[in-house]
Amino acid sequence: MSFAVEFWGVRGSIACPSPRHVVYGGNTSCLEVTAGDQRIILDAGTGIRDLGDSFLKRDVRQAHLLLTHVHWDHINGFPFFAPGYAANRTFEIRAAHLSRLGGVREVLAGQMGQPTFPVPLETMRARLEFQDFDAGDQFWLAPGVKVSTAPLNHPNGATGYRIECAGKALCYVTDTEHVPGVPDQRILSLIEGADLVIYDCTYTDEEFVSHVGWGHSTWQEAIRLCVAAGARRLAVFHHDPSHEDAFMADVERSARDTWDGATVARESMRIQLA
Ligand SMILES: [Zn+2]
Ligand SMILES: [Zn+2]
Repeated sequence: MSFAVEFWGVRGSIACPSPRHVVYGGNTSCLEVTAGDQRIILDAGTGIRDLGDSFLKRDVRQAHLLLTHVHWDHINGFPFFAPGYAANRTFEIRAAHLSRLGGVREVLAGQMGQPTFPVPLETMRARLEFQDFDAGDQFWLAPGVKVSTAPLNHPNGATGYRIECAGKALCYVTDTEHVPGVPDQRILSLIEGADLVIYDCTYTDEEFVSHVGWGHSTWQEAIRLCVAAGARRLAVFHHDPSHEDAFMADVERSARDTWDGATVARESMRIQLA
């Protein structure tokens, strides 16, 4: 069974298309996981627009969308996800910690409401199935594709995911803030022995001290967690828009020098796990 991830958007906060962001990319969070015959979209940042066009070209008619949370950089590509407007397609959309706000459907419909967006959610002709759950739950997307979740430390909450398929494990852990010197036990449990950890590395440790309370972490903390949990590989992710290509190249060198399992996520990058 094939198990792979492709990065369609790697930024946090806001999209940053500019000549200084062409190497690593300017779209916000969106990943495509292929797990056997299942397609899983992780987050619906601006990267989902290109992914949607690719789905139309490849005639992908069914996918799961797992949202970490609903801050703009993780959902505001959704109204531009063209397959959502096409008939004879099914998308199962899941998010945690939104039940008391009316659920994930209400939140996605809200961002497509007047007067901030002219096309309401009801215009989407695909079959959209919404499921709310609690961070910490486990569920199966299909036989052989297991998902475990954990709550993250982030304003308004966020959910970390562990997807297991073909004997391998991929973890998606963004957005989250660490406490220096106190490894997050819930994250350590989630990523234990994982083959790939995609982690919120918005800042460097040096920048972090002036961003305490902003809800994000660092590539150095990512490495500390991966090493402590016996994970095999790290993808540095959720790049700050102010981190232009030259800066990210420095991060890539420093992270690799610190731990040879580290790599920096960039748009179009694909990692095959099985
Ligand atoms: Zn974010
Ligand atoms: Zn966030």
